[in-house]
Amino acid sequence: MRSTFDLKQKLEQMGLAPKKAFGQNFLINTQVIEKIVAAVASKPYVDLLEIGPGLGAITEPLMDVGRTPRLIELDPELIEYWRKRSLQVIDQDALKVDWSALGLREPSLLVSNLPYQISTHIVIDRCFSPRELKWMVLMFQKEVAQRLMAAPHSKEYGLLSVMAQLHFKMSKVADAAPQDFFPAPKVASRVLAFERREVVGLGMPFLKFVKAGFAFRRKFLLKNLKGVVDKAKQEHLLAVLRELGHSEKARAEELTPDDFAALFKRMQ
Ligand code: SAM
Repeated sequence: MRSTFDLKQKLEQMGLAPKKAFGQNFLINTQVIEKIVAAVASKPYVDLLEIGPGLGAITEPLMDVGRTPRLIELDPELIEYWRKRSLQVIDQDALKVDWSALGLREPSLLVSNLPYQISTHIVIDRCFSPRELKWMVLMFQKEVAQRLMAAPHSKEYGLLSVMAQLHFKMSKVADAAPQDFFPAPKVASRVLAFERREVVGLGMPFLKFVKAGFAFRRKFLLKNLKGVVDKAKQEHLLAVLRELGHSEKARAEELTPDDFAALFKRMQ
């Protein structure tokens, strides 16, 4: 039988109930929690940040081993709870935080059982984070985790896979079933570890480029990219595509993340 973190009792004592609007599915399986804490503890980071501590399923065991994180939390009741316990809380939407103003030192680590509704945005945004943020240990819906790690030619492969794989090396840390949370979500979850890769000078225009490439999956890549590549450069686009080993009939799903980066750079 799986052991569980005694969260229901804690909620009752505090007179709180999970809030759907904040994506509050609290983690209660201690084996999953231990794997997350071990993945965090295995990295020699200097600053530690957690998005959405909730009632501390991950925060408390980290504190127990002397690794108190700085927190980002949106729920006013939880902000108050953690401040009363003398933790530093950034009381903002994690999607609106100015990450470059956080003063993170290199190397830093971000851990989170992410609220489902912001998880893909957080990963795309973190691709553009300052390089000080070197590692992440993040919980996703399993289907999102599969998209993140999907290989070219598969139906899960797309914008999210290209962006994440180009900027990070990823590995699986743990799987979690719906009953590992309270309340139980409808879907399974997966925890992934991320390590930043050295990628220079891509930025937002690259995101726009890849997004356009996948806009109509059944269309040829060249057609999809017409809107984001100058007319004068379209011949060149085909030449570079061929140099990378693809034909004029290539679709976005055939290009590896590195192919996308090479194609983009050669078009600048
Ligand atoms: N870490 C806890 C756990 O594992 O049990 C809670 C995880 S719960 C899935 C998501 C947490 O993120 C909640 O604490 C919620 O209030 C917080 N949250 C939701 N939306 C947020 C946002 N946009 N920015 C920061 N925190 C958010």
